[in-house]
Amino acid sequence: MMMNSTPDAAKLNWMTTRLDAALGWARKFSIFQYPFVTACCGMEYMATAASHYDMDRFGAGFPRFSPRQADVLFVVGTISHKIAPMLRRVYDQMADPKWVVAFGVCTCTGGFYDNYATVQGIDAIIPVDVYIPGCPPRPENVLDGLMKLQEKIAAGKSAADPSAGRPAEFQVPHRPEAHL
Ligand code: SF4
Repeated sequence: MMMNSTPDAAKLNWMTTRLDAALGWARKFSIFQYPFVTACCGMEYMATAASHYDMDRFGAGFPRFSPRQADVLFVVGTISHKIAPMLRRVYDQMADPKWVVAFGVCTCTGGFYDNYATVQGIDAIIPVDVYIPGCPPRPENVLDGLMKLQEKIAAGKSAADPSAGRPAEFQVPHRPEAHL
């Protein structure tokens, strides 16, 4: 009698689904963030990271200052057209999978710096996963954003994923000549 050695597809699917869930769970509690800090929001970023609010309990207490060792880019503060190419370069140096948090209204929309020198939202340069508004955002808002990011990480979703419907390369539409 012939033995059927074909693996049971349903069983394999179950195993890969469980493996993805386990990887997502592990990833969401081992966030290695790169803080790209340019302005006053940095004070609130430090307040959130300090012991009172304790980012460490979300597995995000260990910033890395090399983009090659980081998987979450925290963009904290106003982004001028002058510094925009550096932000893009840091993002490009991070390995996949990677995520981006826009910290404060300046990064989300330019905030009240509606002028020729300021990027009107960093999503013109890099894909953003979580927007945290506020000037500056309260630490509670930051932690709320961090928990939303954890949900995305656990689900294996990232704005960097081309299947998320965004172009792989981003251009700054406001003053492209400033990036030459
Ligand atoms: S959002 Fe407010 S606190 Fe944050 S960098 Fe902009 S001006 Fe400063």
